[in-house]
Amino acid sequence: MPHIPSATVSRLVTYLRILTELRERGVERTASDDLARDAHVSAFQVRKDLAYFGRFGTRGAGYVVETLQDELRRILGLDRPWNAAIVGMGRLGGALADYPNMDAYGFSLRAAFDSDPAKVGSAVGGLTVQPMSDLAETAKRESLDIALLTVPAEAAQTATEALAAAGVRGILNFAPVVLDAPSGVHVESADFLAGLTRVSYYLHANLAEHDGASVAG
Ligand code: NAD
Repeated sequence: MPHIPSATVSRLVTYLRILTELRERGVERTASDDLARDAHVSAFQVRKDLAYFGRFGTRGAGYVVETLQDELRRILGLDRPWNAAIVGMGRLGGALADYPNMDAYGFSLRAAFDSDPAKVGSAVGGLTVQPMSDLAETAKRESLDIALLTVPAEAAQTATEALAAAGVRGILNFAPVVLDAPSGVHVESADFLAGLTRVSYYLHANLAEHDGASVAG
C-alpha cells in the first residue's frame, strides 16, 4: 500500500459521512462530482483519494452508495469495534464520557481513569472512574485499543507513556501539546486552541472572505 497522505484520510472521513447521509435518505448511486460538491473539493481530488485504495464505481455510472460506504468503512477500520478509554476525567473528559454518539461510530467506551483520588470511584457517563494504577490491568481485561487523552498539557506525555506500556495503540490527544508518540502508538491531535488560533490568523490577515477552508486538522 502506498503512503496515504493524512489529508486524504481526513477527506475519506468526510466522504463516508456524506455517503452515510445519502444512504439514510435512500439515495442509491452518486458520482464523484456530487461527492466533490458536498465535500467542497474537486472531483479530481475525490477520484485521486479513492484511487489509492483501488477502483471504485464505473465510468459514467458513478458509485453505488452502499458499496462505497462499506468500502470506506473497511478502509477506515470501522468494520470492527474499537474499545476506548478516557484518561483525565475533568471537565472535558466528563463531557466526552456523556457524549452519546461514540457507539454509533463503532467506538465502545469501556473505562475512565484519573490520577486524582477525589475523582476515583465516582460515576461518569455510566463508567466508574479508576485510578491510573489500574490502567495496565484494565487495558488488558477490556482489550483497550484507543485512549481519549484529556489531562493537562504537563501530564500528557507521562500519561501517553503509561498508555503505551499498557498496550494502548491509539491516542486522541486533546491537550495543547505535541506528544512524542512511543513506537507502535499512533497519536492524533484534537486541539481546539490550535483551531481557534487558525481562525484568528485568517481573521487577522483579513482572509476570511477569500478562504473558506475548514479549521479541522
Ligand atoms: P480539567 O483540569 O478539568 O481535567 C483534567 C483532569 O486530568 C483532572 O481530573 C485531573 O485530575 C486529571 N489528571 C491530571 N494529571 C493526570 C494524569 N497524569 N493521569 C490521569 N489523569 C490526570 O481540564 P479540562 O478542562 O478537562 O481539560 C483537559 C485537557 O484538555 C487540557 O489539556 C485542556 O487544555 C484540553 N482541552 C481541550 C479541549 C479541546 O477541545 N480539545 C477543550 C478544553 C480543554
